[in-house]
Amino acid sequence: MNFNDSERIRGILRTMGYEPAKTWEEADLILLNTCTIREKPDQKVLSHVGEYKKIKEKKPDALIAVAGCLVQRAGWELVQKAPAIDIMFSSFNIHQFPELLNQAQAGYKAIAILENPPEDEDKIWEYPLERDNPYCAYVTVIKGCDKNCTYCVVPRTRGRERSRSLESILEEIKRLVEDGVREIHLLGQNVTAWGKDFKKQMHFSELLWKVAEIEGVERIRFTTGHPVDLDDEIIQAMAEIPQVCNALHLPIQSGSNRILNLMDRGYTKEEYLEKVFKLKEKIKGIALSTDIIVGFPSETEKDFEDTLDVIKQVEFEQIFSFKFSPRPGTPAASIENQIPDEIKTRRITELLEIQKTIMAKIAGRYKGTVQEILIEELRGKDTLVGRTTTNRWAEMKGGRELTGKIVRALVKEASPFNLTCEVLEVVR
Ligand code: SAH
Ligand code: SF4
Repeated sequence: MNFNDSERIRGILRTMGYEPAKTWEEADLILLNTCTIREKPDQKVLSHVGEYKKIKEKKPDALIAVAGCLVQRAGWELVQKAPAIDIMFSSFNIHQFPELLNQAQAGYKAIAILENPPEDEDKIWEYPLERDNPYCAYVTVIKGCDKNCTYCVVPRTRGRERSRSLESILEEIKRLVEDGVREIHLLGQNVTAWGKDFKKQMHFSELLWKVAEIEGVERIRFTTGHPVDLDDEIIQAMAEIPQVCNALHLPIQSGSNRILNLMDRGYTKEEYLEKVFKLKEKIKGIALSTDIIVGFPSETEKDFEDTLDVIKQVEFEQIFSFKFSPRPGTPAASIENQIPDEIKTRRITELLEIQKTIMAKIAGRYKGTVQEILIEELRGKDTLVGRTTTNRWAEMKGGRELTGKIVRALVKEASPFNLTCEVLEVVR
């Protein structure tokens, strides 16, 4: 989501006449778009601003801006700690960035931190995006989250769920396709809840069908789906719509029912597994990925074993694992029994070791198969790079004329993170 917000911020800057600078020193504006989901990125902000301040001392006209979730969570504190900041806005008021920039250029501090998302936040969709990838585009379809996972800062920083209207989404996608985009990646903190907040409710599966109807949309992905909201209608749509990719990111967080309950995730290990088995049955060869938090307060060896058990049963193609990071103001941060860092490190290392073996096994299954790959980039003289519908990176020899094309390719070699292929034919 932050990445997509940054694309929007860059689009706004472009419409205001800004261009990317080659070095920090020559920049007229340095903008940091922050994330606050875990503590580490959060801590880095002040040290970055300290670096930018040195640049500003030599070039006093240069402006320093901080945007994003950290502003929502700790904006005023940040202003006090880092007075060098000229502009500040959160994810609620990116659309006000042009006004704030004008204000700062006129020599005023431009700080806007809102308690709640404003009425006119939909104005943001009128600004263009500046993207690096010409063929794959993110499209935000829902903002905020109505869940209350006890470890998570998102409901505080991004507010309650606000679905973007169907018309606005489809219009953006049509523009993207006209621009040459072939893969659409629908985005939201809880994308599967899209449409539930409309006066006349809509279902996420309807959105998938509507997007697929747009001429030129060759591939559809979406993140992040929540296990509770992933119902039969969505699974059915995924199975029936040819453009929906054969991959799903479905965060489980923990395999222990006791911990899932403490996290307030709203499902049990068994319910999660039931959905996974249904997905695997209805969508042959689907690649599943997940998020896991290791060392949630009070997590025992037994709880952790339950997580490992799920990993072994499901065989995820990819796992994003995080050490539990206490976030200010969240219930989990004040649970007494916090887990020491050495134990978190030991557990995450063990988890990654097991996952390495699973990934090697899965990679082996790709060898000798034929995959459809969307070529995204030409690297060097003749190396093409693209992704399979299961979201695996693949490399093959070929020329620039194949970029943006979907090809069928034979997998010659397969390692856990990369496939080496040979192009057989261009599909479209
Ligand atoms: N909406 C998504 C998650 C968005 S946050 C979902 O519910 O699945 C992305 C990931 O960051 C989460 O899945 C979780 O694994 C991780 N995360 C969030 N808060 C965290 C915390 N306090 N400590 C460690 N990891 C955290
Ligand atoms: Fe955070 Fe995701 Fe839970 Fe929402 S569903 S509170 S974004 S972890």
